[in-house]
Amino acid sequence: MTGVLLPACAIFFSGLLVFIYFSKQRINLLENKMYAVMILSILFDSILVTILQLFPLNGVSDLELTFVPLLNKIDFIFLILFCNCLFFYTTLVTIPKFKEKFKVYRIPFAIIDLLTVALILFSPISVINQGENYSVGGLSVYLVYILCLLYIMLSISIVLFNLKKIDRRHIPIFAIILIMIFIFILFQLNPYLIVISASLTFINYIMYFTIENPDLNHIKELNIAKEQAEKANRAKTDFLSNMSHEIRTPLNAIVGFSECMVDSNDLKETKEYATDIVDASKQLLEIVNGILDISKIEANKVEIIPKSYNPREIFDGLRKLVLPRIKEKPIEFKMTFSPDLPGILRGDVSKVKQIILNVLTNAAKYTDKGEIVFNVNCINRMDSKTCLMYISVKDTGHGIKKEKLETIFGKFERIDEDKNTTTEGTGLGLAITKSLVELMGGRITVFSKYGEGSTFRIYLEQEIISMEVPETEATEEEISYKEYPDKKILIVDDSKINLKVAQTLMKPYKTQIELAASGIEAIELVKTNKYDLIFMDIMMPKMNGVETLEKLREKEDFTTPVVALTADAIEGTDEKYLSVGFNSYLSKPIDRKALNKVINKYLGGK
Ligand code: ADP
Repeated sequence: MTGVLLPACAIFFSGLLVFIYFSKQRINLLENKMYAVMILSILFDSILVTILQLFPLNGVSDLELTFVPLLNKIDFIFLILFCNCLFFYTTLVTIPKFKEKFKVYRIPFAIIDLLTVALILFSPISVINQGENYSVGGLSVYLVYILCLLYIMLSISIVLFNLKKIDRRHIPIFAIILIMIFIFILFQLNPYLIVISASLTFINYIMYFTIENPDLNHIKELNIAKEQAEKANRAKTDFLSNMSHEIRTPLNAIVGFSECMVDSNDLKETKEYATDIVDASKQLLEIVNGILDISKIEANKVEIIPKSYNPREIFDGLRKLVLPRIKEKPIEFKMTFSPDLPGILRGDVSKVKQIILNVLTNAAKYTDKGEIVFNVNCINRMDSKTCLMYISVKDTGHGIKKEKLETIFGKFERIDEDKNTTTEGTGLGLAITKSLVELMGGRITVFSKYGEGSTFRIYLEQEIISMEVPETEATEEEISYKEYPDKKILIVDDSKINLKVAQTLMKPYKTQIELAASGIEAIELVKTNKYDLIFMDIMMPKMNGVETLEKLREKEDFTTPVVALTADAIEGTDEKYLSVGFNSYLSKPIDRKALNKVINKYLGGK
């Protein structure tokens, strides 16, 4: 009768655990389900073992001869269930990916379990009496041992093979495995000790308090979510504080010099302030564009818009843009094209320009003397009609320290800032460049020797349209203003400042200019006046530019060209505005050269 004590205790403790576990709402996780089955199995096992121990066993009655083996066999089923769930539990906790495949993997194990249970039910079991105690033997007992041992070994291997780093949750798993091995050995030494139920109950308790029980799991998931949110928030805060610093710097110059201009009576001084304001404004524009680019790239909103272009003309244009950056520095700028560079390529030319311009500008910024070599090579594959452009920009500038080479492609990453204080920059250029290159399926690399110079290489694949090099028109460097005194322009914008800016920029053309502060006003003016050209802002209250244009076009005799004027400088917008009926598109801030082209085209009939 003393043998009943341990299993009876196990009933009590297992019952308590089951009560605690099920009295609280749990998250519907697979490992929780496994755990629930484990504690229930041991509760039933304890009950069965206790009943068996209470049985006044003398091995003679028919009832005993059928009842005792049957109860034992049912008990074995619970033990198998426990070991199986322990194995699944360990696997789920150790290999999170197992969750996705659980439904598939559990099938072979279920088949093995069912086959073993069937075998157990039909195989012999012998009950061995020894005084008050008894033990069981025979084939069915060995089958249970083998299967349970197999599950324990599997659990150990799963933990050992996936043990990259031991963490807190592995310790109880090891403890459990050790206990199981211990009771297995103990049981072999003394089969009359009824320790299994009590030990397994103990294991269940260890698991409840130490392994990721449902509550801990929940907390862990919440913590991960919290960490992610905090990380995103930190990145945003860093970005914002960097951004506001970057924006404030040129703004400070703009506000400061403007105030000086208001106070100054000296024309020469005023001109100098104005030049500084223009420089600071251009820098501000660069920053705003950079931030918009980065945000668009990060929001996956950047599209590849392919167009045909003449690479020689484009690259030469970039050279002309970079030369003023070198100014009076003793730098020789060399540019070479591979002779087999196709005449016309097709690709996202504006991104190609942006990428190369960034790298060229950096070379100009971070080189004090020596040379900048801009090389365009290519490998043409005529079968697939593609050209792999291989562009390198080599300079004899400051160079970049080896350990900084990786970081320069990060956002707002500027190195040697103390040294660079005189060289303006945002630290966004290379981050944008790299993202754009990768978006286009290309690659960018950098080689640099600190103090000696750097070489940036860009690999981009473009479609070949024609190998023949077209004759290029000479591009005008300086704006020459033509005068159109008998022409009439209407500018429509709800912002007074913008009207003033546009009007001032158009002054050199000596045209007659009228202003409208809204779409409605513009429609009224058009009723009584004949204009040669209209510039129309898009974002206006009440009636926006597109709606105003629609109304204007309703008039049968309306033939005036209308140019969209907007701050919405997103790529692809030009097509958008052309498709809704605008004749042309200019983005704000208005570029004088672009404006010149538009005015000459519509007023000069060119
Ligand atoms: P920035 O606006 O500061 O130029 P970038 O992202 O274009 O930002 O470049 C990041 C940093 O990489 C720069 O601040 C500069 O320190 C370094 N760098 C980039 N190009 C060169 C170069 N050609 N020579 C030396 N340093 C360079």
